[in-house]
Amino acid sequence: MQVSGASGVCLAMHEFSRRIAFEDVPTAGAFMVFGAHRDMFEVARNFAHFFAHESCGFCTPCRVGTSLVVRCMDKIAKGLGSQHEIREIFRIHRLLNVASHCGLGQAACNPVFDTLNKFRPAYERRLRSLDFEPAFDLDGALASARQMTGRDDPGAHFVGESQGFGVHP
Ligand code: SF4
Repeated sequence: MQVSGASGVCLAMHEFSRRIAFEDVPTAGAFMVFGAHRDMFEVARNFAHFFAHESCGFCTPCRVGTSLVVRCMDKIAKGLGSQHEIREIFRIHRLLNVASHCGLGQAACNPVFDTLNKFRPAYERRLRSLDFEPAFDLDGALASARQMTGRDDPGAHFVGESQGFGVHP
């Protein structure tokens, strides 16, 4: 259950005995209830896109931080995520909390942070076991350069880590 809107607190079933009160779970009267069949990763990804869209862009931590959270979540959704993205999200969450100019930025990563802590399997089943997985296909990006220069020899291709990582001389 998401209490007090997108920037509020996400409660898992084991927390349903908590009190709706200023001292425990404050609410402006807004509740979003998600059934057990809902994918809480996708719920959080949707919120991440919402906050990146809503950021007014006035201050850098929020303008950049909300976009970076979206990138991490989209990368995980594509099956290219790793523990690196999880660490990045926690790092950006702390940064948004302390360095954003207003409440929107300070709370922007709350739904991702909460679901990461309380619905971790929804994230982990999408992760690759690798510590880092590039989201960018460098060799694919060189295709137009190869086309323009008429080259397709090994030197015009990027090679992966297992082959020495780099561009052939
Ligand atoms: S934290 Fe507030 S002021 Fe700063 S960019 Fe986000 S919405 Fe704008």
